[in-house]
This record gives sequence, structure tokens and C-alpha cells, in this order.
Amino acid sequence: MHLELADFLAHPGKHIPFAIDLNASRATAQLVEGRFVTDIHVAGEAFVQLATMYLRVKITAVIEQPCSRCLAPVQSTVDLAESFTIPVAATDTSTDLLPQVIAFIRNSLDPHPLCRPDCKGLCPVCGINLNEHPDHVCPELVKNDRLRLGDFLK
Ligand SMILES: [Zn+2]
Ligand SMILES: [Zn+2]
Repeated sequence: MHLELADFLAHPGKHIPFAIDLNASRATAQLVEGRFVTDIHVAGEAFVQLATMYLRVKITAVIEQPCSRCLAPVQSTVDLAESFTIPVAATDTSTDLLPQVIAFIRNSLDPHPLCRPDCKGLCPVCGINLNEHPDHVCPELVKNDRLRLGDFLK
């Protein structure tokens, strides 16, 4: 969904409220990892003056990222208040807010999300989830230790 500009261009300088939803799958395509669970809701007001649109908006969405330790999906709520400008030409009929909105959301995301504060992560040797197997003693590691001990006893 693009923002229609007709009203804004017809009334330069007039603050006009608007609300728009940016499609979740189109937005997800702009992410390196993770996905949008909901459309991105953008609501606020804007006005156009001298080929520039001035916007003041609230941005809300639900996003899912992999836990940085165990890769389980972690949902978080995006809730941002932003003011920004975009260039508009008198001949434009609509403008795409997604690139700018995605940039704000990317900057706000936790770079190391955790599914829970004490996530135990994955076994570094075999990759088993240690949250589900807290008593895991890695058979690979035990085997390697035995090999090493065997070398030692030779
Ligand atoms: Zn985790
Ligand atoms: Zn293991």
C-alpha cells in the first residue's frame, strides 16, 4: 500500500491525518532475517511544502526473529514514534513509505534477541537444544574425550 498524495498536494502546508498498513510479506522481504507477523501500521499526520513531505507517525508491528542462542522464534512488538521528511514531486500520485519505515524498525531491533533471559542455547558440538535437554551430556564430546584418553594411555 502506498500513501496517496492528492489531498496533501492540493492543500500545501495543511496537516492531514492518515493511517496506512504496509504489507507484512513485502516488508519481510526487506529484512535480513526474521519476519513480520503483522502488517506494519503507520498512523499520524503529514503535510507537503515545497516538494517535501513532513511526516509525524507512530509505527506499530509484531516481528519474529530467531533467538540468538537457540534459534527459536522470538516475537517482539515494534512501537515507534518518528518524524521524518521525504521528497515528493508535484506529479507524484503516491509515495512508498516502506523503505523509510523499515530503516526505523531495523535500527530499533534488538541485535541479539533471546527467547528467554536464561536461554541455554544449543550444544556447541551436536546442536541439540539445551533448553529441552538440560541434562545433555554430549555423546560426541564423551567419544572425543575417550579418544584423547586412549592416545594418552598408548
Ligand atoms: Zn533461545
Ligand atoms: Zn551435544
